[in-house]
Amino acid sequence: MKLETFSLDVDADGIAVATFDVPGRSMNTITAKAIQDLNAIADEVGANAAIKGLVITSGKASGFCAGADLGELGGGSGGGGAKGDPEAQLKVAFERSFQMNKILRNLETCKKPVACAINGLALGGGFEIALACHYRIAANDNPKLQLGLPEAKVGLMPGGGGTQRLPRLIGAQAAAPYLLQGESMTAEQGKSLGVIHELAPTNQLVGRAKEWVKANPNAKAPWDEAKFKVPGGNANTPGGGTVFTFGSAMLAKQTWGNYPAQKHILSAVYEGLIVPIDAGLRIESRYFVKTLMTPEAKGMIRSLFLSMQDLGKGASRPAGYPQYNIKKAVVIGAGLMGAGIAYVQAKAGIETILLDVSQEAADKGKDYSRKIVEKDVSRGKTSKEKGEALLALIKPSTDYSLVDGADIVVEAVFENPEIKAEVTRKVEEHLGAKAVMGTNTSTLPITGLAKASQRPANFIGIHFFSPVERMGLVEIIKGKETSEETLAKTMDYVLKIKKTPVAVNDFRGFYTSRVFGTYPEEGMTMLAEGIAPAIIENVGRMAGMPMGPLEVSDSVGIDTMLKIGRESAKVAGRSYEQNPVGDVVAWIVEGEKRVGRKAGKGFYDYDEQGKPARLYPDLGKKIEVKVKECPPELKVELTKRLLYRQCVEVARCFEEGVITDARDADIGSILAWGFAPYSGGVCSFVDLKVGVKKFVEECDRLAEAYGERFRPNALLRDMAAKGQTFYSRFPPKDTKAAA
Ligand code: NAD
Repeated sequence: MKLETFSLDVDADGIAVATFDVPGRSMNTITAKAIQDLNAIADEVGANAAIKGLVITSGKASGFCAGADLGELGGGSGGGGAKGDPEAQLKVAFERSFQMNKILRNLETCKKPVACAINGLALGGGFEIALACHYRIAANDNPKLQLGLPEAKVGLMPGGGGTQRLPRLIGAQAAAPYLLQGESMTAEQGKSLGVIHELAPTNQLVGRAKEWVKANPNAKAPWDEAKFKVPGGNANTPGGGTVFTFGSAMLAKQTWGNYPAQKHILSAVYEGLIVPIDAGLRIESRYFVKTLMTPEAKGMIRSLFLSMQDLGKGASRPAGYPQYNIKKAVVIGAGLMGAGIAYVQAKAGIETILLDVSQEAADKGKDYSRKIVEKDVSRGKTSKEKGEALLALIKPSTDYSLVDGADIVVEAVFENPEIKAEVTRKVEEHLGAKAVMGTNTSTLPITGLAKASQRPANFIGIHFFSPVERMGLVEIIKGKETSEETLAKTMDYVLKIKKTPVAVNDFRGFYTSRVFGTYPEEGMTMLAEGIAPAIIENVGRMAGMPMGPLEVSDSVGIDTMLKIGRESAKVAGRSYEQNPVGDVVAWIVEGEKRVGRKAGKGFYDYDEQGKPARLYPDLGKKIEVKVKECPPELKVELTKRLLYRQCVEVARCFEEGVITDARDADIGSILAWGFAPYSGGVCSFVDLKVGVKKFVEECDRLAEAYGERFRPNALLRDMAAKGQTFYSRFPPKDTKAAA
């Protein structure tokens, strides 16, 4: 037997130890070869009379197994890969998916005891291998040990028996958060749930597992015992029936039916628990294939897993520049953004100078970090010593001479070009010739701001999102004169503070604000048309956006929208109020004095915690509500308007060269403004969910019905004519760091 990813040793007592150790990888993943090897091991253990039992463990110090190799699963290509008629394709896909279930089931019924010694994290397929063993013993001295089935988080479902064994072990209700939300458990939690049988120090795991194997020659899975009953009952029992009834309702409320994986998981559990496990495993494999073939799974695997991983490793960083080691960074302006930026820098171990116009303002900025640290210490998320070390890295001051020796500066003062220019001049009196000068402006073109700089090649936009410590994206904006080297250095900075960078070119609103702005704008257009505000808000959320468009307007600040709207209208030589949206915005800000969440009142009234309590009941004073009901066809139409409008704007950004990589556009859309994550982002939504050709046709129809803002641009028409997608036209440029 020739194994590549496992080794198999049999001791003098006839106990075999299969050690999972994929060569050349720091962590085990389930590749096609690993499945093949597991099959050979199961056959050998079953057939060889000299082998009395089996212990499966890992040869990696990092853990047991991180799950399926999603890259190998096809990066979203999905399906079985068979050419020809769809039925044959489905059959191949089913057989391929069922293989893992078949192998694990063979192992489970090989009539010899099988134990799993889990030294570290066991996720997805790794956890499913463990679940198929008769006995599980986990390390109690590894804080990184996690057990779970995270598939649902990337639009997939467990396909190695997870939906059948976990609920048979702990009941459908207890299994629900692990299956549907991809939550993970610690070794101790696993023990108290009954998933783990025994805890032991890492160095004793295999020895103890062997002892158990020796002592239990007739081990069987609980579900192979004649009298087995699912804990809590299956759907045919009164208790189990209630779990599924409420479970379906809760799922519908949380997902609005947008996530096929979750729906399929629930169906697989519901149907699978009624039948014997062998039939249940076939049911799971069928739903697995069905899920894998959805556009949602393709988009989510690609964006939420593969692209996030690639961008997190600096995949779009220009090659050929050495790694920029940032030891000292300066933040200017200790307000909302600057304070947050200082915190994430210090958290990454960077010495941080936080400058403001007065010591008091600078100190206040540092207090922001202090509050986060105190909260983290009180919740046990960090130790007091680590918290103090973090705070010691932040030096609040008014003294620009502290800029000396800094590797990078991030300016986050008021959004005013004159103030920003003055700050740039003052900073550059002290900043080294090779250091990066960044600005966190959210709207001002970088090329314009760079005019104040003596070294425009070193000048760049570093656009953070609020709250900085929670938002994972940083949009990096290259001005006309920004050098590639500065871009590479800035990417190194963003990666060091553990954010995901996307690079875009200079344009008012850049990429994220420009596209995102179309969502509240369309919502307010609907409002001005007389569609009931509750309908607009509900349709927005049901489309998969984190908030309705009116709540988004409140969050951004309706006064800010009024200011920006008036500026843009002025440039175009018209009055903002001529436009129905402008008229509503001016009325609510200036007439009703309701500027949004920050004032506790806007399109919504807010409670003391800043949560929306109710829609402003007097909106009807200004806008006559003409549409009070939302039949399904109206919901479909409004959903299209809200989502397609954003996607058309993305196409314009590509055409104008604001963004150049479909992967950046997708990740930016999900991380910056929460664009329907089930789709994989704005480009994947058009490519996979709608199809470019159909998208163009629909946008033409929407343009006729609602206005030119929906009109497809030449780029989209060209893509449709050539059968291209965003990903084929703007593929990721894998210019990995040479460093
Ligand atoms: P803010 O008003 O909370 O803070 C600005 C800070 O800059 C204040 O503490 C002020 O005292 C200080 N300041 C002003 N002039 C200064 C000077 N000459 N030298 C040093 N400090 C000076 O503003 P904010 O919301 O933190 O925004 C800062 C920047 O970040 C703006 O350019 C804004 O457009 C951008 N931005 C804001 C957000 C957001 O959600 N608020 C998001 C992304 C980007």
